[in-house]
Amino acid sequence: MEIACLDLEGVLVPEIWIAFAEKTGIEELKKTTRDEPDYDVLMNYRLDILRREGLGLNEIQEVIATLKPLDGAIDFVDWLRERFQVVILSDTFYEFASPLMAQLGYPTLLCHRLETDAQGQVTNYRLRQANPKRQAIVAFKSIYYRTIAAGDSYNDTAMLAEADAGILFHAPQNVIAEFPQFPAVQRFAELKQEFINASNRSLSL
Ligand SMILES: [Mg+2]
Repeated sequence: MEIACLDLEGVLVPEIWIAFAEKTGIEELKKTTRDEPDYDVLMNYRLDILRREGLGLNEIQEVIATLKPLDGAIDFVDWLRERFQVVILSDTFYEFASPLMAQLGYPTLLCHRLETDAQGQVTNYRLRQANPKRQAIVAFKSIYYRTIAAGDSYNDTAMLAEADAGILFHAPQNVIAEFPQFPAVQRFAELKQEFINASNRSLSL
């Protein structure tokens, strides 16, 4: 049996914080782990801005609901689910992803959680576990599933390495150069072909 594991942001949907910053015009929310490598510092900075701007969970979800999956992503997920069990392994939060997951037909999603108070204000965040993407692959392997994983960035490479097959999709040139052991493709048609190549079953487009 095989499970297809996909990263979410940059693969199926836009980078959610960046898109949210663009929709709201709050430039400070464009800061990413590249600018602030300490994730805890970065998240508390983001939560402070949400508080300052009076953006509670309802307002955030209304903005995110106006975002769309990347062109071709919905068809790709449908194609993949006909051939594999599909699980999305993401570093986003359920509360952020849910409007986008609705558009993707709610595939299984393993990610983190936000905490809110009675007024809907985001008060904290809870990471699912350490090394969550890699640990999910380890878990699937422990119940004898073969895994094929695709992602676009540094936070995916431990998952790609742990999987039986790893594929870089939409990855920037520096990531492709640093991880030449993974095939790297940019289009959904090519990604389908990589899943077919990596599968140990006979599949077709
Ligand atoms: Mg990504």
